[in-house]
Amino acid sequence: MKIGFIGLGNMGAPMAANLLKAGHDVTGFDVAGITAEGAREAASAAEAATGAEVVITMLPNGQILRSVAAEIIPAMSAGAVFLDCSTVDVDSARAVAADAQAAGLSALDAPVSGGIGGATAGTLTFMIGGDDAGLAKAQPLLDIMGGKSVHCGPSGNGQAVKICNNMILGVTMIATCEAFALADKLGLDRQAMFDVVSTSSGYSWSMNAYCPAPGIGPKSPADNGYKPGFAAELMFKDLGLAQNAAEAVDADTPMGERALALYRQFVEGEDGRGRDFSAMLPRFEKRGRG
Ligand code: NAD
Repeated sequence: MKIGFIGLGNMGAPMAANLLKAGHDVTGFDVAGITAEGAREAASAAEAATGAEVVITMLPNGQILRSVAAEIIPAMSAGAVFLDCSTVDVDSARAVAADAQAAGLSALDAPVSGGIGGATAGTLTFMIGGDDAGLAKAQPLLDIMGGKSVHCGPSGNGQAVKICNNMILGVTMIATCEAFALADKLGLDRQAMFDVVSTSSGYSWSMNAYCPAPGIGPKSPADNGYKPGFAAELMFKDLGLAQNAAEAVDADTPMGERALALYRQFVEGEDGRGRDFSAMLPRFEKRGRG
C-alpha cells in the first residue's frame, strides 16, 4: 500500500519501520528532518500525503494535528484514509474527522497504548473511533503495527477511551506508590506488600505488571533507575486531556483532577520531567504529610 507517514518521533519512526519491513511503500515527513530507515523523504506534509491510500499521523498534540490536517486534507485523494494515531483532545479528533469526511476521505482516530516498546515490536493496542469502511482499509496496517485493535464507535471515541484508560492508570499508579510509601513507614517488607496486594483486592496493572518498587514483581522502569517507559510528562499530558474533556461534558472526576495536580507538581515543580511516571514512589518516600 502507498502510505504517507507524518511525525516520525519516538513512536512514529518504529511504526513506519514496521510498515516498511512488511513491504509497504512509505513516504515520511517530520518537521525535525528525521526519517525512518528505508522511507522515502518528502519535503512537506502535503507532499507525503499526495497519492497515498492511507496517511498516518503521529504528532504531539491536537493543535499540531489540526494544522497538519489543514495542509494534507486538500492534498489527499478522494477515498483515502486519514489515520491519526496521536493522543489528542476529543474535540480536535472530531473536528479533523469532520473536515476529512467533508473532503470525501475516511477518518479514523486511533490512539495507541503500548509505548515505544510496543511500537518497535509491532504489538501496540489501537483504540479506534470512525467509520467501518475506513477501518476495513486501515486494518491490515493496524495488524502490522499492533497486536490488537478495538473499534469503540464514531470519530473521537478512540481518544475518549484512551483518556479514560490513562486517567485510571494515573490514579492507580499514585495510589500504588503512596501505599508503598505508607507500608515502608509502617515497617512492612516491600516483597510481602507485593505478594499480598498483587493477589488481593488492591491489585492493578500498576502493581502487578509495572510495579513501581525496584526489585519487586516483574521487570519495570523502577528496575532501570526509573528511565521511561512511560514518561511522567506524557501522563501529565493525558491527565490534562482527561480534565479538559471532563469540563467540556460536566463530568465529576475528583480523582483524575487530583492526579493531574500531583503530576503537574512532579513534572513542573520537582524532578519528574524525563523520569518514568512510576517515579512517584521515590517522590512519596521522601515526603511526610506536611
Ligand atoms: P515525539 O515528540 O517523539 O514525536 C512527535 C514528532 O512529531 C516529532 O518528531 C516532531 O518533530 C514531529 N512534528 C511536530 N510537529 C510536526 C509537524 N507540523 N509536521 C510534521 N511533524 C511534526 O512524540 P512520541 O513519543 O512519538 O509521541 C507521539 C504521540 O503518541 C503523542 O501524541 C503521544 O502522546 C502519543 N503516545 C506516546 C507514547 C510514548 O510512550 N511515547 C505512548 C502512547 C502514545
